[in-house]
Amino acid sequence: MNAEILAVGTEILLGDIVNTNAQYLARELADLGIGVYYQTVVGDNPDRLRDTIYKAFSRADLIITTGGLGPTEDDLTKETGAKYFDKELVLDEKALDDIKEFFEKTGRKMTENNVKQAYVPEGSTVLYNENGTAPGIIIEENGKILIMLPGPPKETIPIFENQVKPFLKSKQEYTLVSRVLRVAGVGESKMETLVKDIIENSENPTVAPYAKDNEAILRITAKAHNEQEAMELIKPVADEIYNRLGDAIYGEGDTNLESVVAELLINKKMTISTSESCTGGLLAGTLIEYPGISSVFMDGVVSYSNESKMYRLGVKEETLEKYGAVSHETAAEMAKGIAETAGTNIGISTTGIAGPGGGSPEKPVGLVYVGICINGNVKTKEMHFAGTREKIRGRAVYGALNWLRKELLNLDEQ
Ligand code: ATP
Repeated sequence: MNAEILAVGTEILLGDIVNTNAQYLARELADLGIGVYYQTVVGDNPDRLRDTIYKAFSRADLIITTGGLGPTEDDLTKETGAKYFDKELVLDEKALDDIKEFFEKTGRKMTENNVKQAYVPEGSTVLYNENGTAPGIIIEENGKILIMLPGPPKETIPIFENQVKPFLKSKQEYTLVSRVLRVAGVGESKMETLVKDIIENSENPTVAPYAKDNEAILRITAKAHNEQEAMELIKPVADEIYNRLGDAIYGEGDTNLESVVAELLINKKMTISTSESCTGGLLAGTLIEYPGISSVFMDGVVSYSNESKMYRLGVKEETLEKYGAVSHETAAEMAKGIAETAGTNIGISTTGIAGPGGGSPEKPVGLVYVGICINGNVKTKEMHFAGTREKIRGRAVYGALNWLRKELLNLDEQ
């Protein structure tokens, strides 16, 4: 089955509103494995709408429209759709009751016009609308399906999710199931090289690489008669990818690095504190994004000046003089200092040159040292990042969290 998305509304053509419905529907249809080759926007004009429907049905089996189901004269989608299939409009009592109830609930006065919204093409499936007055409609005949949905996203999305999706799934012989592997610390191109042959040779499942923010993603998608069958097809491919990428895969599905780190800390009952120079609180802020972190996150210091590093964290003056604030030695003392003063199992520090100024040939912009002190043992790591000040700070946080994750995993092996 392939589909077209057709947004109806002069407001969209004029740029007054953004066609977010098309974006939503395109994603949903892709997830369902339904191909979409065209998206169209047409104004509130019956002739052009009719032509667009004819053209779309010459290319696709399914059209999903949004908008133009309202009560006014220029809302013409339903009438035009019904005409295409040669259907009369008939009153749907339940739709009328729903509309009356909607007006009672919202304390607004119903007008005669709203009765028009309860008329539906004969023989169609009515998609009752709990969040507005216009019901959606499905007309299906001779292998062609027209699904008309109201325009406001708060109406379109629930109707699609609860009524259209199950309908479309029932029409599909196959289902598409994906596993999404999230990779940290290995760039997209390196990741791609490591699994290139798998990507190239996989047909079912397919393996597709993506890059998002600081991470790389591999989506493994199988087409099968049911979810279990799809999962069985995916498993050996996923296992082979795990063999190649190992602990660079930090999680699967709907998660992120800070959640994985937070969960490791909580599960291992390891308390943590942060001392940050170049990331200026971003590391603490990122960890604190995770609800429930309060059982392990104790303290966070933004220690920007040399004085602060000495007085707040106990970094030695000689260390700063001899090696500089951006050094392995300072990062180590910052991590140990915060762990000791906060009394936590872990102290983690960052010190670096976020730019755009302040770099030198020995210590260029993007150079960051991270220190991790776990149960009194301190390690440091030199990292290099490219980009703007904002990007470097974000990447430093990501690098620090990913290293911490690996150290926490290694604790199990010791
Ligand atoms: P109603 O349920 O209000 O009768 P309708 O089907 O007649 O809706 P329109 O009158 O075409 O829809 O649009 C109503 C509102 O819905 C628009 O003002 C806009 O805010 C939103 N809307 C319409 N189409 C889209 C779209 N494609 N993407 C995002 N929002 C949209």
